[in-house]
Amino acid sequence: MKQKFKSKNSGKQKRLSENEEIKLLNSWIESQKPDSGSNPMSLPPPLPNAPIGRIDDDTYSRYAGATRFDQLPISSKTKDGLRKAEFIDMTDIQKASLPHALCGRDILGAAKTGSGKTLAFLIPVLEKLYRERWGPEFGVGSIIISPTRELGAQLFDVLKAVGKFHNFSAGLLIGGRKDVNTEKEHVNELNILVCTPGRLLQHMDETPNFDCSQLQVLVLDEADRILDVGFKKTLNAIISQLPKHRQTFLFSATQTKSVQDLARLSLKDPEYLSVHEESTTATPNSLQQTAMVVPLEQKLDMLWSFIKAHLNSKILVFLSSCKQVKFVFETFKKLRPGIPLKCLHGRMKQDKRMGIYSEFCEKRSVLFSTDVASRGLDFNKAVDWVVQVDCPEDVASYIHRVGRTARYHSGGKSVLFIMPSEMKMLEQLESAKVPIQLIKANTKRLQPVSGLLSALLVKYPNFQQLAQRAFITYLRSIHIQKDKEIFDVMKLSIDEFSASLGLPMTPKIRFIDQKRRSQKMSANPTTFLALDSSGDENVSNTMDGELEVGDFKESDQGLFPPIDNPSSEVEDAVAPTRILKKKKLKINVHRPVGTRVSFDDDGNPLAPLAKLADIKTSNDAFVVDKDEKNEFYKKRREELKQADKEDKLLNRNRLKEKRKEKMNKMKKRAAKETQDDEDDISESEEERPQKRSKKFVDSDSDIDNKVENKFNTESISVAEQEELALKLLSSLQS
Ligand code: ADP
Ligand code: MG
Repeated sequence: MKQKFKSKNSGKQKRLSENEEIKLLNSWIESQKPDSGSNPMSLPPPLPNAPIGRIDDDTYSRYAGATRFDQLPISSKTKDGLRKAEFIDMTDIQKASLPHALCGRDILGAAKTGSGKTLAFLIPVLEKLYRERWGPEFGVGSIIISPTRELGAQLFDVLKAVGKFHNFSAGLLIGGRKDVNTEKEHVNELNILVCTPGRLLQHMDETPNFDCSQLQVLVLDEADRILDVGFKKTLNAIISQLPKHRQTFLFSATQTKSVQDLARLSLKDPEYLSVHEESTTATPNSLQQTAMVVPLEQKLDMLWSFIKAHLNSKILVFLSSCKQVKFVFETFKKLRPGIPLKCLHGRMKQDKRMGIYSEFCEKRSVLFSTDVASRGLDFNKAVDWVVQVDCPEDVASYIHRVGRTARYHSGGKSVLFIMPSEMKMLEQLESAKVPIQLIKANTKRLQPVSGLLSALLVKYPNFQQLAQRAFITYLRSIHIQKDKEIFDVMKLSIDEFSASLGLPMTPKIRFIDQKRRSQKMSANPTTFLALDSSGDENVSNTMDGELEVGDFKESDQGLFPPIDNPSSEVEDAVAPTRILKKKKLKINVHRPVGTRVSFDDDGNPLAPLAKLADIKTSNDAFVVDKDEKNEFYKKRREELKQADKEDKLLNRNRLKEKRKEKMNKMKKRAAKETQDDEDDISESEEERPQKRSKKFVDSDSDIDNKVENKFNTESISVAEQEELALKLLSSLQS
């Protein structure tokens, strides 16, 4: 996407005045520079009616401490753009950082979500290029990097609005867009690039003569995200191609202070401006945050109940993987909660992603998303609720997710579903000054959805696969979390979770089995050895093949998105090519049926049906009996069949009624037309009915085609059709 900023004025006169303006701005900026290390907000604001700009020959107004954009030493073009977009008064981060940024310093800006960081870096970008008299022929003057495509697009929109009256050309270069070749042709003509890291590196690698040796300003929005491990290689490759002499801005609500990061970017004595450091909370004050203890197997019931209770709200729901988002979205959609549902994740096609993002900006709906929507996005019309169904990986992630609501001056609410095993996260949030109220879920108002899900899974076999994938990716996401104090996959009630997704059986997961075994081995090594030598491994492998239908093999080979690698979700890092090959299933078709040997916890062989009995684990939790579950599903299937029968009958009656009504209408219309035609006396009376009956049967007109198709779909018998035709004929002839 390329945008040429239009200039309203042109010609020599304009150029001169621009030169004069630039001269004045330079002197003003230089003479009133704030001290390094100072926070302009600590200065008293200028008097409301005090003169702005040059006061006399060598005196200029003070701009550090300014509260309005028009008190800053910025060009009239930028001021016009700001005014047009109705930006008048500055927010705190803008007041604090703009005076330093305008005089050429590197900035590390930290301020809460929704507090206006975007303008804090876009204005100095425009101003720097303007004062450098940057022209189209100068090439790339500024690069603004965003971790996600949607945020890139949003930044580009703000840039277009504020830079409306400037002459620069700007381009949005984000992954997933097909017109990369067109981009390559024009990228050298662009002055400002807004891009995701992967796409930028792609141009650096592939576009002939791509030149950013003259770069003036580099911006990393959501800087800590771009600097983290997911983008490490990509960012290092980018930085290595940029000139060291430049201005650099890093902004985020959770700013990096790592010396290493700063060294990587060769920052020169950056101004660290953290405007909310003294604030009692790390999140916006207008955000009401709650947490509810919800066991894993009740999460979907709780989510469903929540949605049903908030049908008039705009809700953003975070889940931990694409597969979960897909499963919850697809199944809930089928169950029709009474509010439009949408989903957003990194595996979607780019056009669709953008479409969903814009739709969610406009309309009241529920958006199920992965962390791809957690950073920076400013959904146009306020989000009422942020619901975190799965615990965020860390405090920063929590802050960014809830930061999608309560932006600028608006309010918002959030709820975190937290499992009993994850309570430590609440302590961490508390120490990071995140005020959350722990509330008790009202289980009386819980509307269970698991039963409905299991019915759906029976009816639509595709959903079974989705459910299995959701199940495995969730467990895997917990398994690979870094913070083991909070995330322990062994503490989860896995069978109950599987059942809550509507799955008839708990899929077998190798890494959990291995974990269980190693736990057992450390508790009782002899038992383990006996078990191993008795051939249980082989049995278990065969079961993998039977139950897991490939999915869980995939996960074992790392085919599922590596969730610990943010680049898989906050995509556009250049990820190493993964080998997407499914391991072939080896099912021993000659294996005698019913000979599978099961073993108890001590390694003793069990009779095939011995597992029917309730077995207690060491934690006293019941192991869900698989046969019982099968029985349950058999029953569900029968119930469903019965319900289906009733539905069909009901539908048939309904259609009959409809048909009757339609026939009556047709009769009336035909009678009326006959009357009209008679009045006209335009056609022979004999022809008319024949023609009509022919049309009706042969259906050679559009209208009659419709009629015939309708009948076909409703499948009435030939006899019925004849009867109807006769009735119609007689009505026409009478
Ligand atoms: P952040 O990057 O800090 O999360 P944004 O830059 O996305 O926040 O701004 C949040 C919202 O506040 C946006 O809708 C933006 O238009 C609005 N905003 C920012 N600065 C101002 C301002 N000075 N006056 C009015 N609205 C502003
Ligand atoms: Mg932002």
